[in-house]
Amino acid sequence: MKLICIGRNYAKHIEELDNERPEHPVVFLKTDSAILLKQHPFVIPEFSKDVHHEVEVLVKIKKLGKYIDKKFASTYYDEIGLGLDFTARDLQSDLKAKGLPWEKAKAFDGAAVIGNWLPKEQLGNVDAIAFTLEKNGQVVQDGNTSHMLWKIDELISYVSQYFTLKIGDVIFTGTPAGVGPVVANDKLKGFIGSTELFSIKVK
Ligand code: ZN
Repeated sequence: MKLICIGRNYAKHIEELDNERPEHPVVFLKTDSAILLKQHPFVIPEFSKDVHHEVEVLVKIKKLGKYIDKKFASTYYDEIGLGLDFTARDLQSDLKAKGLPWEKAKAFDGAAVIGNWLPKEQLGNVDAIAFTLEKNGQVVQDGNTSHMLWKIDELISYVSQYFTLKIGDVIFTGTPAGVGPVVANDKLKGFIGSTELFSIKVK
């Protein structure tokens, strides 16, 4: 399976990193080895002094598809989740400045947290999902999918032009504002509405 990630999908996050608003969705991939094992802590890698949390709504693909029309995109998923796109921001900034790919900063071991899944019917309108990240009990990121520049169905349609979507693939739909560093002993909890979908310790 593959993890397809969207960058710069929320205007306020684009501003906080001083990035340009993209003309098309920014797409990158994470490896399956990046997935943090359940019940394991996130270990800050030695090569970074500035790993950031990015909380993101996740979509789990349930059938094979390519060139998916936006109007059929909702038939390709039944489950919505929440996760973290851990990013070695210092390394990413370095790679970006040199025009190099981001994988080392985004796809290292443990950099993809995939929380529990919820049936989409339970959530109602997928374009109005409220979600939050708490760090040590304080809300640090507070997002709503209504603020996405490209909505879930548009993202599925867009990425499927490039990559055949397979059963079990996961789309990370981008992070809202409020990204920031994690340090040892931090505790990160992600919520959709009031439902906790993951709880991670940092080491
Ligand atoms: Zn991200």
